[in-house]
Amino acid sequence: MYRDSQIFDDRAPAAPREDEERLDPLLGFPAEVAWRYEAESRPERVRHLRIAILAGIISYNSYDLISFFTFPDVAKQAIVLRLVITALAGAVWFWLPRMTAFGREMLLLGAMLAACSVPLYLFAATRAPNGALSFIDFLLTIVFGIAILQLRFPAAIVMMAVCWAAGQSVVAFRPELTFDARLALSMQLMMASCFLLLSSWLMQRSHRRAYLAKLRETERSHGLELARQSFAELSMTDALTGLGNRRCLDDVLPHWLAEARSGRMPFALVMIDVDHFKAYNDRYGHQAGDVCLRQIGAALAGFARQETDVVARYGGEEFVVLLRGVGRPVALQRANDLVAAIGALSIPHAARPDGERRVTVSAGVAHVDRGTGLREADVVAQADAALYEAKLAGRGRIGPVLGEALAVRAPATV
Ligand code: GH3
Ligand code: MG
Ligand code: MG
Repeated sequence: MYRDSQIFDDRAPAAPREDEERLDPLLGFPAEVAWRYEAESRPERVRHLRIAILAGIISYNSYDLISFFTFPDVAKQAIVLRLVITALAGAVWFWLPRMTAFGREMLLLGAMLAACSVPLYLFAATRAPNGALSFIDFLLTIVFGIAILQLRFPAAIVMMAVCWAAGQSVVAFRPELTFDARLALSMQLMMASCFLLLSSWLMQRSHRRAYLAKLRETERSHGLELARQSFAELSMTDALTGLGNRRCLDDVLPHWLAEARSGRMPFALVMIDVDHFKAYNDRYGHQAGDVCLRQIGAALAGFARQETDVVARYGGEEFVVLLRGVGRPVALQRANDLVAAIGALSIPHAARPDGERRVTVSAGVAHVDRGTGLREADVVAQADAALYEAKLAGRGRIGPVLGEALAVRAPATV
């Protein structure tokens, strides 16, 4: 909204850019981003450096060919010194992947200072008529460090400062150069230093800002995803008991039904209803009723096999347990055990009209396997009908009651 209005109103104050706040003046990231940036960019940085070093070694030594023409008096020294630097570059190439970020950048800085010192020394040492041309080698070596190796900005500042001071000193104290030539070389060194530092700052700033923007986008979409997940979980959870809710059941049931009907995995739906719960509320109060429902919910959750079964609060004082991969006899047995387990909690219920003095539940079982042509609503209706039967038969038991050997009263209610 704010940014849109800026398009139309130039007077609107610009919102501070987050990435500007997060890069320090030397283009360093905050600590928590720095380690991540290094971890993500390290392989690419090392690969880039190793290729650049190989290219640098070739071009650096190719100057040996023209040394004999431009400064023959120090050509042999040039060859030896360049070989020394080549050996150093080889060692850097080898150690790069094995070093910390700081060590790696310091090593590069040291190696580049050493590499720059050779053409500068040759410039100072030669007395050949075209010897001043070796100053260009010096400048090109600096360009290589800043633009090709892309020394980190703080390292680039140190390198430029050292090279500028050393270059100016050598130019100033080379006696046989005319004043004009010395002035021209100083100016070239000064301008090259400024341009290179500026380009290093601009390139690295835009690269790092792009990284921060990408990071922010990743964090934002990760946050949205977490929010979406927790919302999805919340919308599937019953607030009172922490169990799954009706929506959770609606989500699972079609899949289980399809699997069962295809013969892959039978299951049973057990519908559970707390007996005489209205009387419990009337006697002990609604809050005590809530506590009782939580206790029953926790007992059901403990009873279920966590990796396969699903326990949900269907609504009010009714719960559903889905038993996965069970045949009908096992389903009836487990439903019976479940009813017994709730009775065994021995929650007092002195207001029952049937003489029983503890909280009990009744349960109805519907079993689904390959031959069952039931839809979701039919399964629930069947379990409901069985529950109704259990209620009629005296509560504290499972249904279907008639003809089922296991349909016995739960121990707590006998
Ligand atoms: P029956 O044995 O036939 O199931 O009798 P019942 O009293 O349990 O059945 P009825 O349907 O008459 O009453 C259900 C009661 O459950 C009424 C309602 O106050 C209570 N109830 C439903 N949801 C909640 C709840 O979230 N908390 C509390 N404390 N009570 C609830
Ligand atoms: Mg009920
Ligand atoms: Mg009830």
